[in-house]
Amino acid sequence: DSEIPRDHPRYASLVTRHRIEAGVERGITSKQGLIAQGRGEAFDYLLGERTLPSADAAARAAAAHLLSANRPVISVNGNVAALVPEETIALAGVVGADLEVNLFNRTEERMEAIADHLHAHGATEIKGLTGDGEIPGLAHARGTVDADGIESADVVVVPLEDGDRAEALAAMGKTEIVIDLNPGSRSPRTADVPIIDNVLRAVPNMTAHARELADASPAELQAIRETFDPEATLAAAERAIREGEFADEE
Ligand code: ATP
Ligand code: MG
Repeated sequence: DSEIPRDHPRYASLVTRHRIEAGVERGITSKQGLIAQGRGEAFDYLLGERTLPSADAAARAAAAHLLSANRPVISVNGNVAALVPEETIALAGVVGADLEVNLFNRTEERMEAIADHLHAHGATEIKGLTGDGEIPGLAHARGTVDADGIESADVVVVPLEDGDRAEALAAMGKTEIVIDLNPGSRSPRTADVPIIDNVLRAVPNMTAHARELADASPAELQAIRETFDPEATLAAAERAIREGEFADEE
């Protein structure tokens, strides 16, 4: 990232591109992941490359869910591993979640490259490589997960998840937290907590909220979970896109 001047007006987007390119070169990110990045970048531009107040509230609700969970799992794909490896490990540590490598296009090479990459960034235990569980209703390669990971999780964080898989996870009765820049995509529309924000901002923001809520009572966490309105979050993001990057919400 170092050769990109910090005062460049598109600094964040250049850093993101650079990390995704490096991820592809290292065998962490798929070519499909490059395309997903392009879509995300377009939406981030339309959102003004900022965290909307509604996305901040969603990140707080997500933190409350994770802190209240019995078996929280954060799913890591090739884009997440390339963009926010340390931030994702930090979030897992603060909320006591497991990390599970989970790919839409599963290959053993990429699974291992991502696990190695996370280990190199300080992760101790990484799930996903066993692949002895499944998400019912999906073709084998798409539905393979760990039995003691995503399969038995009560709360899952799925950043940049595919729509079919997001729906299948919801059908398993899990509380689903989706991070996705496109408020019209099926994945955030399926989520209990859609966070319409860039993973680069959303993951550290969830960690900050989780730290702040670390001593909150079960009743306080419950109130945060129950007052969160996913429809309103999606609507606020759509409005922000339609009204332009300098428009306020409400
Ligand atoms: P579906 O409707 O089935 O969910 P999709 O069109 O959303 O399909 P993909 O192209 O795989 O399927 O989606 C990639 C998603 O990831 C896009 O919605 C894009 O906005 C989002 N995305 C890409 N990069 C980021 C990022 N850095 N942070 C957050 N979201 C991102
Ligand atoms: Mg999607």
